[in-house]
Amino acid sequence: MPKNEKEKLKAPQLLRGMKDILPSEQKYWEYLRNKISSFLQDYGFKRIDTPILEESSLFIRSVGKGTDIVDKEMFSFIDQGGDNVTLRPEGTAPVARVYIEHGMVNQPQPIKLYYMGSFFRHDRPQAGRHRQFHQFGFEVLGDNHPVIDTQVIMMTYNLYKELGLDIVMQINSIGCPACQEEYKKVLTDYYKTRRNSLCEECKKRLLKNPLRLLDCKQEDCQTLATGAPQIVDHLCEECHEHFVKVLEHLDDVEVPYNLNPRLVRGLDYYTRTAFEVWPGKMDEKQASQSALGGGGRYDQLIENLGGRPTPAIGYAGGLERLINKIKEQAVSVPEVKMPDIFVAQLGDLARKKSLKLFEELRKSDLQVYETFSKDGMKEQMATANRLGVRFTLILGQKEMMDGTIILRDMESGIQETIDYQKIIAEVKKRLARWGVNNNINNKT
Ligand code: AMP
Repeated sequence: MPKNEKEKLKAPQLLRGMKDILPSEQKYWEYLRNKISSFLQDYGFKRIDTPILEESSLFIRSVGKGTDIVDKEMFSFIDQGGDNVTLRPEGTAPVARVYIEHGMVNQPQPIKLYYMGSFFRHDRPQAGRHRQFHQFGFEVLGDNHPVIDTQVIMMTYNLYKELGLDIVMQINSIGCPACQEEYKKVLTDYYKTRRNSLCEECKKRLLKNPLRLLDCKQEDCQTLATGAPQIVDHLCEECHEHFVKVLEHLDDVEVPYNLNPRLVRGLDYYTRTAFEVWPGKMDEKQASQSALGGGGRYDQLIENLGGRPTPAIGYAGGLERLINKIKEQAVSVPEVKMPDIFVAQLGDLARKKSLKLFEELRKSDLQVYETFSKDGMKEQMATANRLGVRFTLILGQKEMMDGTIILRDMESGIQETIDYQKIIAEVKKRLARWGVNNNINNKT
């Protein structure tokens, strides 16, 4: 390629709003994936993985037209086969699809499922907002008892508390479609007379999705929202009773919460109980914009997607924001497993043998590191030191002839010659004695 053409080629760059998760960050991800999975499994939830790509109509019918997600944020395109598809912006609608498509209604109810993975929203990139982000979520499908709402809220609270975080649970009820219909009228009447004080976005919301007027983050809109009629005063008898029971149960199990009449969630499918997890020790505006996650009932969703009437409730939490909080609040996270041993070699014959030795050590559950392509002992030792391994095994020409191997204690610098056949047992014995075998530590 001519030089000037080569110069024109720019190195590929990360897309705006996307993020690489580098090795140095992986300890947080590994810790959280394990912790969250085992926590949810303790409560009887089974893991589900759905495709990242779904028919666009799934989200349009569930999340709803008029919501920010559907109107502005979906990564949608027509694929080679002419299908209108979307990179999933959230996890509940795919789970509802699975429930219907796999006939889960015929299994003992409720069905408890959890997921973890990547989600996509073409949001304006800013702190705590990415275009590809990660969520974990869990759903209880096929049960409308208020005790289930309480359990889901309690579990959410317990999970963040067990992770060592300071949080505040925000709770509201947004009623059933009948209550919402009624309430939207009252709300629209309230805002119509105050239309001039609304931001441009809220003027549109007034026509399309008046509930969302309540959680606008603009100063003037927030002031108006504070004085707006509250949905809890417009709940039908059943929804009111359901909400009272959820709160009573929460008081019984001593989960602290803040009743938040302006909490409406941004998705259309929610009914009755709605809740969010906000970071503690923050002013309200900041906290509402940094929510760690949110959830609620969606009793009509499955029916609206063509299934049988199935009440359900769930929660989804963001992993990026959770990791930021864990770092901010200096929660200690275990380091990713480091190698116990380094294998160093001198000469071609030893190089070949060390390839085999590496396999034998690995199969014996030892974490080994090597730089097989390097020749110099100094360089190999420098790597072993940098990695902080406990022992280095050295194979040189003399050891190859004698059927031995050198075991170097990296702390004391003492080197011993050991029978090659006995090296694995010897290394294991010493690691156990020093208590530095990461395998053993990680299993506890
Ligand atoms: P939502 O269903 O929109 O309430 O999202 C639930 C949680 O997912 C939020 O509270 C955030 O923690 C996280 N989340 C949502 N959108 C994004 C985004 N664009 N970037 C990072 N995290 C997000």
